Amino acid sequence: MSRRGNNGSSIVGWVVSIAAIGAIGFMMMSPRFEREDPKVSISRMGYWNFNDPIEVSVEDASGLKSFSATLVGPHEDWSIIDDTTPSTVTKRHFKILPPKGVRNPEVASVEMKIEATDNSLWGLFMGNTTKKTMTLVIDQRAPFLSITANSYKIQKGGSAIVICKVDDPQLESVTVETNFGKTFVAQPFYKKGYYASLLAWPVQQETFLATIVARDKAGNETRTSVPVRLKDHAYKVSKIELSDQFLNGKIAQLANVYKQTIGVSDRLEQFKIINETVRADNEKVIHGVTSKVSSKLISDFRPVPFYPLVNGQKVADFADHRIYSYKGKENVSSAYHMGLDLASVQQGAIKSSNAGTTVFSQPNGIYGNLPIIDHGLGLYTLYGHCSEVHVREKDHVNGGQTIAKTGTSGYAMGDHLHFGVLVQGIEVRPEEWMDSQWIHDNITSVIDAAKSVMH
Ligand SMILES: [Zn+2]
Repeated sequence: MSRRGNNGSSIVGWVVSIAAIGAIGFMMMSPRFEREDPKVSISRMGYWNFNDPIEVSVEDASGLKSFSATLVGPHEDWSIIDDTTPSTVTKRHFKILPPKGVRNPEVASVEMKIEATDNSLWGLFMGNTTKKTMTLVIDQRAPFLSITANSYKIQKGGSAIVICKVDDPQLESVTVETNFGKTFVAQPFYKKGYYASLLAWPVQQETFLATIVARDKAGNETRTSVPVRLKDHAYKVSKIELSDQFLNGKIAQLANVYKQTIGVSDRLEQFKIINETVRADNEKVIHGVTSKVSSKLISDFRPVPFYPLVNGQKVADFADHRIYSYKGKENVSSAYHMGLDLASVQQGAIKSSNAGTTVFSQPNGIYGNLPIIDHGLGLYTLYGHCSEVHVREKDHVNGGQTIAKTGTSGYAMGDHLHFGVLVQGIEVRPEEWMDSQWIHDNITSVIDAAKSVMH
């Protein structure tokens, strides 16, 4: 009997043990018992203007059981959010706004306390909790911003400069916002507290509007529009009839090389892909390389006129809008030609008139062998269709240095140079930067006027 009893209780013991292990195993594996704390990310750290909402996003696999946000001041606490309605949504957003009726907290800083608990049954059914506490320095003063000098005018497709004075102990950025979505970044210039930015009016934009925005770490901003006069410029529209000779020659040859035309045998289709898709891909590379602007203080900006090719004759215009037809069919494809084509002798020496740094030196699709030089303050020049390139990426280039030889690489019919000028990733009229009078009137005299009042 006793042996059987022993047997019986040990079986029960086994069953209980196995059940317990099973239950623990179930809890360890079950999503209902997940042990991951909610992931909390907060949009603002360190400083707050006590006005713009602080965005908090919380992510948790089992959703949130509760969320609370409290602001703790030296004299009082404000409960901003106290949400105890469980939700199975795995990703939630909360906006933390200042307490109602309190505009000016009259304190130097507040503590923000955030607590988020998930729906997990882990921790004796209490769930996993993330707690965050941070100090936010209250800064309600907007940056001081005033324009020191700017170009009198900007031409459609052309460039300009603006120099401004900005003061804020917690300054975060000085940028120039535009009506076409581009934001230029201003670079510290000449003396502490001053910033300069070249501006560009893209040729496809009907109008140009630029606003300087100074923003501090607390989210305060000051905006002022750049009072620049607009000068329209009519660019050429060229209607070009495609010939079979061209399609079966140059296009067939290029279609053999580019990955975008793999598997396409129709010649007109190949042309369209090269003229549109390959061009867009190549321009994307160019825009990426030329969008950067340094955040280091630049002491001066005094370019000499570019003269990239001795005795170079213009063979195609900047911003020429080329519209193609084929066998009586209108507008089969179109593109803007975003540089100035110059030709002299075959394999003519190409010079970079201004000093700079080579930031790109590779074949780039229809542009062929392509060096790109960074001249500072967001100004870049590029040299397409080269037969030889003598500079490598990161090489310093002296003013007047021969950097390449003209050729026919890429989408080029005869030996020539495709000369492009870009301002923070936007193609601009090369003629302006080749003209000493234009550079003086629109860039260097503006800089001189600004410097004369900088203290
Ligand atoms: Zn060209």
